[in-house]
Amino acid sequence: MGVRAAIARKPKVPEIRKGDTVVVLSGRDAGKRGTVERVIRRQPAPRGRSMFRRGTTAGGVSVVVEGLNIAKRHTKSRQSSSSTDRMPKIQQGGIFDIAQPLPIGRVMLVCPNCSRPTRIAHATLENGRRVRVCRHCNQQLEVKA
Ligand SMILES: [Zn+2]
Repeated sequence: MGVRAAIARKPKVPEIRKGDTVVVLSGRDAGKRGTVERVIRRQPAPRGRSMFRRGTTAGGVSVVVEGLNIAKRHTKSRQSSSSTDRMPKIQQGGIFDIAQPLPIGRVMLVCPNCSRPTRIAHATLENGRRVRVCRHCNQQLEVKA
């Protein structure tokens, strides 16, 4: 049992966060922009064989972007057999739009200052806080919550 916990404690600033505007680089929605609704972080495979899994991006992070990568879910209306008088479990049928997660490698952050897709640089402020910086205009990319 090796002691490797210290390695994982690296204080890394996430590249893309909730509330960021991103542009999709490839796929059906290529070129479209949207706001990040959710960042999903998948743990690296716990069995120690992750080196052999192909197609995994570093860290396995994906993002759900509002209104993009939509999957239409067709749902039939159905009635549960266990319906009571109080709760007739009828599920309304219809088509639901569900935003599917996009691998982080398929999106690029759009700078809110110069509105160009940008790569991210990191800077450390005087108070020690790490911030993301646009490589084009050198402005901070922090989202004002
Ligand atoms: Zn910029």
